[in-house]
Amino acid sequence: MSVDKPAVNCGNCGLQLDEDTTAPAETRLPCPSCGSITRAIHVTIRDTVTFKEKLGLKGRHADGGKPFIEQIQGDDLHRDTGTWRRLSRVIDRENDKYHEVVKDPATGDILHECHEPLSQHRGHGAAKRRVKEPKDGKP
Ligand SMILES: [Zn+2]
Repeated sequence: MSVDKPAVNCGNCGLQLDEDTTAPAETRLPCPSCGSITRAIHVTIRDTVTFKEKLGLKGRHADGGKPFIEQIQGDDLHRDTGTWRRLSRVIDRENDKYHEVVKDPATGDILHECHEPLSQHRGHGAAKRRVKEPKDGKP
């Protein structure tokens, strides 16, 4: 973030003045144009704002149940490296397909790519975090 040097104008007639904005009001000289000691101080703050977005969609049949298709597109924070990546993932249960493409958003390089039958998809993402719980609910 950066703050530009404030611009000082006469608060009455708008004449631009070469004045220190931090100076106390009592030390101000009357405006050379209209004699006013009121001031208008304009401060411009510049900042860079980066937007992150992720969109997801799920398709379900009218009779409910698990979504037959899930799609995720967007920015994904990679926990191991702390960097943002561009994720595109399609989980197509109806056709037993799993597609995942992870790109470096800066270069567009493919960092990770996975196309396989969903039934054979193992090892990362949601599949890895799935914890089996005992059926009786006791540890
Ligand atoms: Zn003035």
